Amino acid sequence: MTAQTDPLLEAVEALTKPQSRKEPQDIINTYVTKDDEGVETEHQKVVGTQKVTVILPPLLKQLDDAIRSSMGGSTRGAALASESAVLNVSALYEAMKIESQVRDWCRLRGITPTKDTAKDLAAWHAATYLDGLTDEQETSSTRTLRKWATSIRGMLDPWREKDLPDPCPACGATDWWDMSTRSRYLRPLIIKYRPDGADMVERSYGLCRACEEVWNVRELAYDIEQAAQHADA
Ligand SMILES: [Zn+2]
Repeated sequence: MTAQTDPLLEAVEALTKPQSRKEPQDIINTYVTKDDEGVETEHQKVVGTQKVTVILPPLLKQLDDAIRSSMGGSTRGAALASESAVLNVSALYEAMKIESQVRDWCRLRGITPTKDTAKDLAAWHAATYLDGLTDEQETSSTRTLRKWATSIRGMLDPWREKDLPDPCPACGATDWWDMSTRSRYLRPLIIKYRPDGADMVERSYGLCRACEEVWNVRELAYDIEQAAQHADA
């Protein structure tokens, strides 16, 4: 079996290996203004979005980091503090649930669990190659691991999203394949936004879940309009 056709291995690695993904990055313009007294002030303005590939730590490590950083506390205002308190509690709860399940799995395979859940999970998975798993065990473990990954991603991602009914103006797709649930869904286009942020429109971006194209929302609106006109013509 290869990594591509082994769903259990994929699910384990999603939690224990570094993740690469495309993310929007602000394009920032800096300009200087001078007042009547000749005092210069530097300003920064977000003028657009570009996509970059970033390498993120393994999801279990990200969860761990989130717990640590929110425990360090934030003094940047009450809203942030309460947000981090919510993350703190839910991240801790999720981490404890995962740790306890992985420890149980390890004990069943005769592995002594360490304090490192990612390492334990990898050790458990290696042991399943030796002892084997029933199809039923494999399916249910894979489902559990995918659920954890989805839950961690949802907790750590501050972006909200809204899907759009239009076909993708870049690839023309009207549906997309979700690797995490292994299902096909309609409406590949989504707008991602931060509901609390300043410059909400400038900082929002559109993403096609079929071809991974990224737009700022104004570009996307324009492209969708153009595509619709072509289709009518
Ligand atoms: Zn597309």
